[in-house]
Order: sequence, then C-alpha cells, then structure tokens
Amino acid sequence: MPVIRCPICRRAFDAESSPAMPFCSDRCRQIDLGRWLDEGYSVPVEREEPEQADDWPISEEDEES
Ligand SMILES: [Zn+2]
Repeated sequence: MPVIRCPICRRAFDAESSPAMPFCSDRCRQIDLGRWLDEGYSVPVEREEPEQADDWPISEEDEES
C-alpha cells in the first residue's frame, strides 16, 4: 500500500484509501481549495477597487437625482 503525506495536515495516510487524492480527506482538499481561491481573488480585487472608487460616487449621484 502506498503511504503518502497529506500536504495540508502533514498526516501520513494510505493513498489508495483516500477519497480526495492527494489529500488525506475531503476536508483537507477543501482547505487547499480555499487557500487558492483566497489568494486568487484577494490580490486583483484589492488592487482594482481603490482605482474605481473615484468614479463610482459620481455616477451613483447622477442616478439618484
Ligand atoms: Zn490531511
């Protein structure tokens, strides 16, 4: 049986019995997926928002009046 180490929780587990390779469990797979999404979204979004912030208040005021 191939035993590998989970990259998330560092626990050694049987690779053939895992439902979420290369992680030891589906929970660790979700944690890894969450990390990727956090990094992918936070960087570009935080950079774009300050640049657009100056234009938004003007257009919103025009629509209300
Ligand atoms: Zn794990």
